Amino acid sequence: MTDQSTEPTEAAGLAFDPDALRQKYSLEKIKRIREDGNNQYIEVKGDFAHYVDDPYLETIIEREPLNDEIDIAIIGGGFGGLLSAARLRENGIDNIRMIEKAGDFGGTWYWNRYPGAACDIESYVYLPLLEEIGYMPVKKYIDGKDILDYSQQLARHYDLYDDVCFQTEATEVRWDESIARWVIKTNRGDEMKARFIVMSNGPLNRPKLPGIPGIDSYKGHTFHTSRWDYDYTGGTADGGLTGLKDKRVGVIGTGATAVQCVPHLAEGAKQLCIFQRTPSSIDERNDHPTDPDWVASLEPGWHQKRMDNFNILVTGGIAEEDLVKDGWTEIIRNLLFIVKNENEPDLSPGAMGEKMELADFQKMEQIRKRVDDTITDEETAEHLKPYYRQFCKRPCFHDDYLPAFNRPNVELIDTDGQGIDRITEKGVVANGIEYELDCIIFATGFEVGTGYSRRSGYEIYGRKGTSLTQRWSEGARTLHGMQSHGFPNSFMLGHIQSGFTPNYPHALNEQSKHIAYIIKHCLDGNQRIVEASEEAETDWVNTIIKLARDSQKFLADCTPGYYNNEGKPQERALQDSNYGAGSEAFFKILKEWREEGSLAGLELS
Ligand code: NDP
Repeated sequence: MTDQSTEPTEAAGLAFDPDALRQKYSLEKIKRIREDGNNQYIEVKGDFAHYVDDPYLETIIEREPLNDEIDIAIIGGGFGGLLSAARLRENGIDNIRMIEKAGDFGGTWYWNRYPGAACDIESYVYLPLLEEIGYMPVKKYIDGKDILDYSQQLARHYDLYDDVCFQTEATEVRWDESIARWVIKTNRGDEMKARFIVMSNGPLNRPKLPGIPGIDSYKGHTFHTSRWDYDYTGGTADGGLTGLKDKRVGVIGTGATAVQCVPHLAEGAKQLCIFQRTPSSIDERNDHPTDPDWVASLEPGWHQKRMDNFNILVTGGIAEEDLVKDGWTEIIRNLLFIVKNENEPDLSPGAMGEKMELADFQKMEQIRKRVDDTITDEETAEHLKPYYRQFCKRPCFHDDYLPAFNRPNVELIDTDGQGIDRITEKGVVANGIEYELDCIIFATGFEVGTGYSRRSGYEIYGRKGTSLTQRWSEGARTLHGMQSHGFPNSFMLGHIQSGFTPNYPHALNEQSKHIAYIIKHCLDGNQRIVEASEEAETDWVNTIIKLARDSQKFLADCTPGYYNNEGKPQERALQDSNYGAGSEAFFKILKEWREEGSLAGLELS
């Protein structure tokens, strides 16, 4: 194992052939490109709707439908909704109602309770509002159940439990011009009116299932990882899956979720078959308890500084120091080392791109070596090696995933990039062989490239009854990713046309500050309506498209996945992409926009 805090050792003399790697990456990508792209997945509705039932509810809340009026409705009780509410509360705004389909706050951490669920982004930068709350995570990589607890602690701190409708799903959100209010209909028969709506539906909230022939014919037990069935598996998020001791279990998918739950399944199941299409890159995690001396040394403002530092490094920027020093930031350390070693401080963007590629090759060689060092069976090791650039797919960090493949009860069924063939009454067919299984667990991820309203689960109708789906039929249209012309007094949190960072709560935090600023301005100035002007929106869309072109080559060379629209990063995705100059630059734009104070690009009345 490498020590993440030391300098890279092999940077100067390259122990690999870049041309050969380039060719191998290209072959691996081509093998995986499919005509159907995003359409290979089926939507979880109709006969598949049970895959999204809430297995964690203890009681069903009974209440009368609400037909009242509030100032601000926030849809979503995950970090985005919580941060929006927190920033509004800090601005003295009380009349808030949160609407959440789950039985409690927590968002993704409410749903994803699979065994081993944890955050592999350092908790000191991942968890928002640490200084505001006075909370310090117990270790560097905090468990999912502690993040869920923390979310609920945030809700208590900002007094949100009195202002929330749980187990309530928005079904339609419609602007009523005559009263200048949003009308929110829900599955509980509510028709609430709100002056402003804030929508934080989550970027990965709709589980997706592969459109495999026979998926509905399977007679065994089955569920998606984001609705873990502990009644069947036994155990808890800490493992101990005793219900599986006499079961043959199949897991489909080897992304970040599978990486975390496979070690527990391997321990609990009689037999475990892992069906792989593309291996994840698995770096070390190197977790450790929080050091009290380090905590005592922290100065006020440390949290924002650390979040910013992490974000600069993981989005390709250069910072003097690396505060987090983990696998996420290591690639940039490698790069700096190469540059320093070759004494080329003023590289052109093209030359910098080449150096980046070398640093990336080097990082991935290290990842592949880690597989060889861990896996005893040579063929299995070969299949577990990822051949693509590190940020083509989400990098994973885990110390128990690879060793699980050395167990006698675990079998890797690699499909050479093709995925499984079909599902039968009895199990899964892959590479022409049928594997009989008692249980199939879908670790197949979440919808990303589908329409915004489909992923939200409700349609949004703006002025003149125009739906957001209609308005965005040629691609997303926003100012700063948060406001859309024709949809007054409404705000969206997310990655579309906004700054992307792997540390998603950081982005939500910056957006929440911005939204609270605009809403407070309207409430203080008694402005009835605030809306992105068509001109400002067009300018922003053009900026997004222009900057996105620069990342096209990188994405086009990547193996398919949700980062590149399943291998089809075409024109539409350009417009729906993130702010191409990076999230740090984006956060700066937002801050300067607020400091300038004229609410440029917004129409108020
Ligand atoms: P992913 O989308 O990352 O993975 C889905 C997996 O299913 C992939 O391995 C995919 O293969 C595979 N798959 C899809 N269709 C088929 C098929 N027909 N046959 C075989 N395999 C198939 O979903 P995850 O739930 O793993 O992760 C989603 C995201 O959640 C992560 O990217 C991350 O952002 C977040 N996450 C974060 C964690 C954290 O620590 N903060 C932990 C866990 C998740 P292929 O790669 O070939 O498409």
